[in-house]
Parts: sequence; C-alpha cells; structure tokens
Amino acid sequence: MDSTIENPSNERADRGLRGVTILGSTGSIGLSALDVLARNPARYRVLALTAHTQVDRLFEQCRQYRPQKAVLLDARAAAELKDRVQRAGLPVEVLSGAEGLNTVATHPRAHIVVAAIVGAAGLLPSLAAVRAGKRVLLANKEPLVMSGKIFIDEARASGAELLPVDSEHNAIFQCMPAGYRAGSAPTGVRRIYLTCSGGPFRTLSPEALVSVTPEQACAHPNWVMGRKISVDSATLMNKGLEMIEACWLFGVMPDQIEIVIHPQSVIHSMVEYVDGSVLAQLGNPDMRTPIAHALAWPERIESGVKSLDLFDLARLDFERPDAGRFPCLRLAQEATRAGGTAPAILNAANEVAVQAFLERRIGFTEIPRVIEHTLGGMPANPDAELGAVLGDDARARDVANRFIAGRESRVGMGAT
Ligand code: NAD
Ligand code: MG
Repeated sequence: MDSTIENPSNERADRGLRGVTILGSTGSIGLSALDVLARNPARYRVLALTAHTQVDRLFEQCRQYRPQKAVLLDARAAAELKDRVQRAGLPVEVLSGAEGLNTVATHPRAHIVVAAIVGAAGLLPSLAAVRAGKRVLLANKEPLVMSGKIFIDEARASGAELLPVDSEHNAIFQCMPAGYRAGSAPTGVRRIYLTCSGGPFRTLSPEALVSVTPEQACAHPNWVMGRKISVDSATLMNKGLEMIEACWLFGVMPDQIEIVIHPQSVIHSMVEYVDGSVLAQLGNPDMRTPIAHALAWPERIESGVKSLDLFDLARLDFERPDAGRFPCLRLAQEATRAGGTAPAILNAANEVAVQAFLERRIGFTEIPRVIEHTLGGMPANPDAELGAVLGDDARARDVANRFIAGRESRVGMGAT
C-alpha cells in the first residue's frame, strides 16, 4: 500500500504540474536537473529524489525541494535520513533499497523520470520507468549500452518517451526530422557526427599517459561531471559507450557514426542527410540545456544557460581520434561488432577498471588492459535478453576483479 504522507493543500496546488522523479539526484546531472526544475515551478513538481548513500545531501534536497518521497539505496543511510526528516518535521516519506527505487520510478504521479544514476546500477529502475510508460530522460548511458534493444522494445510496447540527455545524443535528437521518436531509423540520414572533446589528455604522449593521476583524469577541460564519466572521458571510453548508445537510440549502424574530436565542445553533434545538408546543435557546454530540452520537449523552457557568444568563439577545430593512444575506442567498436552481451561485458569491465584506477590500484593505461582481458576471457552470449545481460555483467565484474587482484599480488611480489 502507498503510505505517502499527503499534504492535501499541496496536492491541490499540484494539479496540472508534471511530477518528476530524479534517480540519482545528488550527482552532477541530478543537481543540474534540480536547478532547471527550480527555474520552472509553474510546470514541474519534484515528486521523488534518490541517492546511493549521501544522507547529508539528500536531506538538504528534501528541505529545499520538499519531495513526497526520498530513497537511499543503503538501508542504514535511509534509516538515518528518516530520523532527520522526522525531526525536521518534513512531510517526506523515506524509502530504501531497490524496491524503493522501483516505487518512485513507477509512481503514478511521476510523469517524468530523470535517469541519472551512474553505471549499471541504473538499469533496473530506469527500465521500470520505461515499462511504466513514463517520459524517461536518459542521462545514465550504461544501461543502454548493456541492453539498448530491451529499452527500445519496452518503450515501444509501453508508449514510454525516451528522451536523450547525454549532450551529444540530445543534439542528434534535436537535428532529427520533426516528429522523430528515439529508437526508430530516421529517413534520409546518411551519417552522424558524434563530437568528442578529446578529454584532458588529448595532446599527451603515450609515455606521459602511463603516470596520470585520478585528479588529473577528473579535471575535464570543458565539463564538470561525476568521477566515473570524467575518467571515461579521459580514456575516450565515454565516446565508445556513446557510439553504442547512439546505435540504439537512432537505429543506425556503427559505420554510420563518425567520431570527431572537437576540443571546444560547442557543437554537441551533427547529422548529415543524403542531400548533403549537415545539421548541428550548438551551445555552451552546460548539461542544463539538454535537460531542459528533454523535460519540455517539444516545447522550450528556460534553463539558466547563458547565451553562446559567437563573437567570442575564436575558432572551431575538428580532428580524427587517435585510436592508438586511446584503445578504449577500438574495444568499444569490437564489442559492438561482436554484439549480444559483449557491450555489457565491456561496460562491466570498464566500471571495475575505472573504480580500481580511482582507488589507485591500477594505472590509467591499465584500464583498457583490464577490459581487453575480460572481453577475451569470457564468451559473450549472442542473445542479449535481460537475464543474460545481468548474468554476464556479474561474471565480467568477477573476471575483471580477479585480473586486477592478480596484477596487484604480482606487483606486491616485486614483479612489474
Ligand atoms: P555522479 O557520480 O555525479 O552521480 C551519480 C548519482 O547516482 C548520485 O546521486 C549517486 O548517489 C547515485 N548512485 C550511485 N551509485 C548508485 C547505486 N549503486 N544505486 C543507486 N544510486 C546510485 O554521476 P553523473 O556525472 O551525474 O552521471 C550520471 C549518469 O549520467 C552517468 O551514467 C553518466 O555517464 C551520465 N552522464 C553524465 C553527464 C555529466 O555531465 N555529468 C553527461 C552525460 C551523461
Ligand atoms: Mg556525452
């Protein structure tokens, strides 16, 4: 039974407002989404906020945004939040665990679900929102990489609206023909140019890459993001994941996607049509633009992003990526060609490797080695149904963790 503490006056005031659940509200995307919502109080009502373990941040968000529900995955953290919420007299119901995430992702009053959890952990709650027929704002790209076909098929069956928030995919979506829906193959499209900043190490030599630190990897030149995606941007795995994401979202083949290094991050991607037209979406690098677009589509709302100063833009550069220095791109392409659960294996190995790098257990250039070893060390299942995806995700984590542990013990014994 739904035991939400209702405030009748609020409920009356909420009529006509679109209820929004943010899965991962304490993260970088979550904060940007809350900022856009706060600028548009006449349209949206924050229904539910969720996080992993961050009690302090979620409590502050409960105070500021007064959601009906707040979820912490961690049960102990949830108990602490519940206590603080009660002592502060806030009418917020606190839930926990996967069940809590599922409840708020599928709640009848949640018209819009912002999928902003990082990594494979977002798969089940995002999929639940899709199955419940919500408008789902997809920032969390890893679930699409793991099981894109399932998302597209389920959205078609439920009538859910999938709106890409990843800046490149949102740009591509904006360049698609009027009335286009994610997942269908667009007519007249020849090619997609997926732009890439090149990350913080774009010009670094292969020798220098060996000794970069997590702090350097997380200092992105144009975007402020969570730590995992920052490292993915530095290895270019982010672009590999985004290529797979684009194949599912836009019904294209990998060879129709051209990755272009564009260091200024002003053009967020482009679509080339068979008549030679190339459409691009431009703007300052600020995730509030794609979030606002996806919230209001097909209308437009204020996002707080300042105007692009064209006269201030000295130049726009374009280069081909260097797959030699950034092997993660090649690994993502190979996993896409292999198909089935190979992209899920790639993603799981990458999550494990990035975490180990952030914990200083492996070096930056070992990230692709962990992924290559994992992809080579287990067969992919050709049928990427949900059970196979989740099973291979778990197995790949195990293979990758054992490889890292083996390296650590060899290093510990004096080997290099
Ligand atoms: P982040 O690390 O800043 O935030 C992650 C959020 O997910 C937090 O609220 C955290 O509490 C929650 N979370 C983490 N692990 C969880 C778990 N196991 N279960 C439930 N909740 C959990 O990450 P971010 O940078 O905001 O990125 C979120 C997603 O959006 C990622 O998939 C990323 O690739 C994608 N994305 C981010 C950006 C960006 O600018 N940050 C841009 C494009 C796409
Ligand atoms: Mg992106």
